[in-house]
Amino acid sequence: MIQQHSVLLKEELCEGCTNCVKDCPTKAIRVHQGKATIKEELCIDCAECIRTCAYHAKYTRTDSIEDIADYDYPVALVPPSFYGQFIDYSPGQVIKGLYKLGFKGVYDVAMAAEALTYKTIDFLKNTKELYISSSCPVVVRLIKLLYPELIDQLIPFKPPTELMAQSVRKELLDSGLSEQKLGIFLVTPCPGKTSTVHNPLGVDRSFIDKAIPVDKVYHSLLEVMDKKNSESEGKKGLTPYLGIKWGQSGGEVDLIKPAILNKTIAVSGIHNVKDILEEISRNNITDIRYCELSACTGGCVGGVLNVINPFQAKYNLKKLAEEHNKAVNQDYCLYSYQLSSEFKPVEVARLDSDIEKAMEKLAQLEKEIDLLPGLDCAACGAPDCQTLAEDIVTGKAKRSDCIFILREQVEDLADQMSELAHSIPPIMRKKRREEKAGTQKEVLKGENNKNESK
Ligand code: SF4
Ligand code: SF4
Repeated sequence: MIQQHSVLLKEELCEGCTNCVKDCPTKAIRVHQGKATIKEELCIDCAECIRTCAYHAKYTRTDSIEDIADYDYPVALVPPSFYGQFIDYSPGQVIKGLYKLGFKGVYDVAMAAEALTYKTIDFLKNTKELYISSSCPVVVRLIKLLYPELIDQLIPFKPPTELMAQSVRKELLDSGLSEQKLGIFLVTPCPGKTSTVHNPLGVDRSFIDKAIPVDKVYHSLLEVMDKKNSESEGKKGLTPYLGIKWGQSGGEVDLIKPAILNKTIAVSGIHNVKDILEEISRNNITDIRYCELSACTGGCVGGVLNVINPFQAKYNLKKLAEEHNKAVNQDYCLYSYQLSSEFKPVEVARLDSDIEKAMEKLAQLEKEIDLLPGLDCAACGAPDCQTLAEDIVTGKAKRSDCIFILREQVEDLADQMSELAHSIPPIMRKKRREEKAGTQKEVLKGENNKNESK
């Protein structure tokens, strides 16, 4: 079976410190007997646990650059954030380098991002409500899992990566290339995008075949790219400089806001994203028409698979975008924006899938919550007391997993033992006293004998 998630655990490296337990935005991690486990149904591949783990026990499963050899016609999809990894190499040199690595075609996801910008503006002009960008897969998964009431507020179009992959696939197959020979590789900045290959969003089946991480491509490229400051500009082509802005937080709204009276906000970082979704869900956000939300701090330049500092990458992208401020002249109707599969809520039965049993467990849950200390210390291996109570009720944890309850139990046990030690019949107590007195006499006698012989 193909694993749907790309954030995985190397059990042998886990020290059971529980730091990741507290940082996971969906409470997907537990530590039992000193080892973490990830509850697959709750994981959204946000990579927060990779960032947190000091022992490198969490990692991203990705494809490898050697996989290019499996296809007669491998092509690379370059995300907008990728160009931010380079300060001394122009987009043209980067593209030329990708050809040298063996790709037969290189396509900019930023082209589709530019096209989607205009499609989104049209959509917003014909609607009135607040809408949320659906380009970050982690945000979409978070909404499907924790805020299903906001699904209808997601922009109902495919994300730029799928738009571009679909358009490339169509173009190449129409030109006579056979399906088996074509391999579409996404250069990915994050596990979130990596897992869309096997666990797609908005499409029945992803148009992307493989995802190779930015860091692997970056280091391979450095070996083959023309030297710094070389005269060579590399492949000349249409560089979608405006779409490149999508690689950083605020880039999408920069392009969209003039059309909707600046009624936009951009929020990045998974915990900030959760906070704003909470507020949208409570109708506390007003006068805003478009929310650009990125799970990574700073946007895709902050993805864990990138190489350079996200702020430097942001600066590099800004410089590139300043070079040109015109969109690429392309036919926006060539893209197929409509979702082929709706965004649906992820239903996770927290207590029981049977409604009657779930009600019974709910009553038990309330009792368990009252018994626990409410400190949310995570020392038990669950992120908070409420979650431990759920795990107890569903038979996945014991009350004594709480160290404070365990301490109380040990104290009670110690009291009982002491009580037990004193609860012997009077006759035995008398005998013990006599035995003790006899032993003391023997000792004194022995000591006197020693003194006399001196
Ligand atoms: S990737 Fe994110 S959601 Fe999944 S276990 Fe790690 S922190 Fe939790
Ligand atoms: S913001 Fe982060 S998680 Fe979301 S698509 Fe960009 S790199 Fe991936």
